[in-house]
Amino acid sequence: MQRIPEPFRIKMVEPIKMISAEQRRQALERAGYNPFLLRSDEVFIDLLTDSGTGSMSDKQWAGLMMGDESYAGSRNYYHLQETVQEIFNYRYVLPTHQGRGAEQILFPAIIEQRGCQNPVFISNYHFDTTAAHVELNGAQAINVATPQAYDTTSPYDWKGNFDLGKLEATITEHGAANVAAIITTVTCNSTGGQPVSMENMRAVYQIAQRHGIPVVIDSARYCENAWFIKQRESGYQDRSVAEIISEMYQYGDMLTMSAKKDPMVNIGGLCCIRSDEELFRQVQVRCIPQEGFVTYGGLAGRDMEALAVGLREGMDEDHLSYRIGQVKYLGDLLLEAGVPIQYPTGGHAVFVDARILLAHIPGDKFPAQALANALYLEGGIRGVEIGSLLLGRDPATGLQKESPLELLRLTIPRRVYTNNHMEYVASCLAAVKRRAESIRGLSFSYEPPLLRHFTARFHSS
Ligand SMILES: *Cc1c(COP(=O)(O)O)cnc(C)c1O
Repeated sequence: MQRIPEPFRIKMVEPIKMISAEQRRQALERAGYNPFLLRSDEVFIDLLTDSGTGSMSDKQWAGLMMGDESYAGSRNYYHLQETVQEIFNYRYVLPTHQGRGAEQILFPAIIEQRGCQNPVFISNYHFDTTAAHVELNGAQAINVATPQAYDTTSPYDWKGNFDLGKLEATITEHGAANVAAIITTVTCNSTGGQPVSMENMRAVYQIAQRHGIPVVIDSARYCENAWFIKQRESGYQDRSVAEIISEMYQYGDMLTMSAKKDPMVNIGGLCCIRSDEELFRQVQVRCIPQEGFVTYGGLAGRDMEALAVGLREGMDEDHLSYRIGQVKYLGDLLLEAGVPIQYPTGGHAVFVDARILLAHIPGDKFPAQALANALYLEGGIRGVEIGSLLLGRDPATGLQKESPLELLRLTIPRRVYTNNHMEYVASCLAAVKRRAESIRGLSFSYEPPLLRHFTARFHSS
């Protein structure tokens, strides 16, 4: 089994502690059977998210000491701007507090600029906050991922791709003038951290150009996506990750980024525009009241410095092959134990197929949430549901949307856990599998109206 050793030494440690099985039972009950509501001290291994949970390097920590906390014109902003321009070749750069900050200033500006009557956004798959910002702006979020993405058991290299036929059909159905933008999410988080091929990105951009629709690249995992292209797509084996990223960003007009992912900062985001100065002005206008002045966007100078360093560190090929190798290692251990997962594994997480593992629990009783709870009780491990609960209700009908997938995401923070931790996680999940039939579904005790997975409470059903 492939095991790439960690390409770093550990120079500072943070102790973690396992509480007893009885304490875990009480903690979960208090949390309303929603792992989001656990205290982190109650968690032994936290695989809730890879967002903001990475370890910064010595160079990033050194960057913190170089913070220039001037309100306007901080030198860290200019370092960040130059770094973005070099990596992505996008001229206009706004820092934001995180990815959703970029979404909230960009999307309304695009809708306004394009004058859409009945705006829709089309994506391979909208991330949850991305869909929320689309809907908050009175637009509709439509996903057109390739059908292979929904079949977890058959291997396919590009489960993050757009279904190009469906993309065209959706544009025709709504009319190009109503399509505010196409959002290319790299990697595609919601289908399993799955990559989008260069060929697909290029084709999407050509379709968009033909219809005069702008393309936004949702860029949280631009490095991991590039690494997959280098490994899997013919013609890219001998290209550097930097060259691949440079080509990927030719197939977009703007980027939003949660910098809490691949660039390994604990907070931060970016909103960048390739060349449309008029749009940039509109976005700047929104940035000031919502995020902060245009040279800090809600970040401290030191945060921008750590981000400028992290944007490059995330692209390091030794880091990427270890990183994605570790995710694959956990996936391989689970497959060996007969646990069904989205296969092949993606860039940042292993996604367990709860629809298969807990086939006796229907979607509206949230099988993946029930599995998350069982795994916490078993070993103090926190994962997160990516399925019906996350998807929510149709705003028009109020009915639960039918989720194509019921997944438990085990998200691996960057440079945080060792391969030993992965072995422990796999053995706990194997134990849960052995008692799968005894696990019961969940019903709401409290259901929030929007982004309900964060604060919902449940009881056994
Ligand atoms: C995390 C994420 C976001 C939102 O970013 P935040 O930093 O959490 O606000 C948007 N899109 C994708 C694909 C993400 O993974």
